[in-house]
Amino acid sequence: MERVNIVETNLEFGELLEREYTDAIVIHHTGNPTDDDLSAEEIHQSHLNQGWVGIGYHFVIRKDGTIERGRPEWAIGSHAYGENSHTIGIHVCGNFEIGAPTEIQLGKLAHLIGNLCADYDIPTDRAHIVGHRELMPTACPGKNLFSHIDDIVGNANWYRYGAEKTSQTQNNEIPEVKIWNFFKSKKLNDYAVAGIMGNLYAESGLISNNLQNSYEILGSDEEYTAKVDSGEYSKETFVNDGAGYGLAQWTYFARKAALYDFAKQKGASIGDLDMQLEFLWAELLDSYVSLVNALMDAQSVKQASDAFLLDFERPADQSEGQKARRAGYSQEFYEDYAGKAGDANMSEKRYNTVDELPDWAKWTIERMIEQGIINGDGAGLDLSKDMLRTFVIVERMLRR
Ligand SMILES: [Zn+2]
Repeated sequence: MERVNIVETNLEFGELLEREYTDAIVIHHTGNPTDDDLSAEEIHQSHLNQGWVGIGYHFVIRKDGTIERGRPEWAIGSHAYGENSHTIGIHVCGNFEIGAPTEIQLGKLAHLIGNLCADYDIPTDRAHIVGHRELMPTACPGKNLFSHIDDIVGNANWYRYGAEKTSQTQNNEIPEVKIWNFFKSKKLNDYAVAGIMGNLYAESGLISNNLQNSYEILGSDEEYTAKVDSGEYSKETFVNDGAGYGLAQWTYFARKAALYDFAKQKGASIGDLDMQLEFLWAELLDSYVSLVNALMDAQSVKQASDAFLLDFERPADQSEGQKARRAGYSQEFYEDYAGKAGDANMSEKRYNTVDELPDWAKWTIERMIEQGIINGDGAGLDLSKDMLRTFVIVERMLRR
């Protein structure tokens, strides 16, 4: 992996304590009323003036992309109250409530995160790379940087692993676009594709390496996936552990065994999105012919969504409420993608008030406003649909 360049600053500190372990990275901005570009040295001085032992952040990324060393990497920082003992703090210069980060800042931030995740063996995902505001009520790192964090994490993965392993997270083809295009290529109509996607979203959030949340005692999504791929977690254990896994949350032993064999035969990771889509399609053609026919003939999103729920997913809860919830997700996909064959563009619609929010996102966003994580008054929420989806997924992960 290519290493990002870090400019040494040789700052002098008071007494520092060593950090014993590192499992997360916290992103900050400057947040001064003017959109400042402070050096590590200037921040060091101001933190010394506050009576601290020196700059609280480990890295400072200037507007021109230069990465300056702050507090030594081995030391416990002072940047995220209550979370310093296990995190690294990165400061990106600017006030991103009013200004926007530069392209080069975003690129260098992703590269640095990719390096650090590899160094400390931290999963490069949204559970381990967070904005300061996700830990406490603060605007930091500003809405105009916070809105990029998903992309930054995707790009950090790219720096860490290279292009070939990042089909799940790489920014230029997000999973839902790939999934839409895959089923469209199978000649399904828009109702059917939306109906399938709404159900898959309810199962896994469209995350192909998703491990059923209640089983995360077995490890994070990434850890579990890596163990299955490496063989540390045997086929027999994988098949019989009862945990739902992947896009469709395959759970039943025979279906997990078939998925496992299919992945091995393809030489793909068990969490690979392309492999799972092909497997899902093969499963449908093999064992669910009448469902495929019903999908081909679907005359509405609701019809397709219900059919997929009842014939394929068969969850314990098949109530009208469950059907409505899934049909609601399906409708969202339909509105975003129908008629746009092969078009990767996301819906541009922004949601500015709680009333405008789709029902599936309301509860999460209201809760985030209550906790001061996002600003609910006056200025408008300015959230896109994919930001809403991300918040809902993250919130569900945190709630487990
Ligand atoms: Zn901060």
